[in-house]
Amino acid sequence: MARNSEKLSTVIIILIISIMATKGFSQDSPAFDKIQTEAGTVEMHFIGHGSLMFKLNGFVIHIDPVKSSGDYRFLPRADLILVTHEHYDHLDVELINELKKEGTLVFTNEKSTEKIGWAMPMKPGDRQEVNGVVFEAVHAYNIVNMRSPGQPFHPRGSGIGYVLTIGGRRFYIAGDTENTPEMKELKDIEVAFLPMNLPYTMTPAMVADAALAFKPKILYPYHFGDTNTDEIISLLKGSGIDIRIRNLK
Ligand code: ZN
Ligand code: ZN
Repeated sequence: MARNSEKLSTVIIILIISIMATKGFSQDSPAFDKIQTEAGTVEMHFIGHGSLMFKLNGFVIHIDPVKSSGDYRFLPRADLILVTHEHYDHLDVELINELKKEGTLVFTNEKSTEKIGWAMPMKPGDRQEVNGVVFEAVHAYNIVNMRSPGQPFHPRGSGIGYVLTIGGRRFYIAGDTENTPEMKELKDIEVAFLPMNLPYTMTPAMVADAALAFKPKILYPYHFGDTNTDEIISLLKGSGIDIRIRNLK
């Protein structure tokens, strides 16, 4: 009798743990979304925090792949890796080496290149093309949020974001940045990933300010930590922007 109730309570505990594990995003939030382009369907996979994976006709792009952001065990190796900057939640050299296969190309901001060795550096304004995917490095930096007076978490000119053009559609992955003048001048963005956590990046109000300026068709707040995502939804109500909350804490 005691044995059976012990077993039963073990089963109940396991059940509770697995319900807790699947609670939140994974049950009702898709692991990836699709965008149709002239070059084929782009799958955007949401790994977590600042980490994404794009797939286009079997071509795999890992963006800021970091083990602490999600489970990489079952994900394919990379044809192309893009890294925005060298902070630990964006650059994971060990994982990059694990995702490497023959022909993998890695592009990063200049500081990350020093740490990887075989990566190619990009600075704002630089443009590259691999397998029909055009990607441009854009500025990513803080204006108001400082580590200490005069020392921004992300100084201008160091980190980057990327604008990918795939089959005529433009995807903006902002990296760690605030609502900069350069961001506000972006044009024809179909999909934007904008970071939304303090103290490193933006408040929902700053994200809304940027989004209203360059009007992406679809907005994914990402890198949002414990920020309340309801705020950005209410701030952009009626803007016509499709705001999608995914598992990108
Ligand atoms: Zn950072
Ligand atoms: Zn970050």
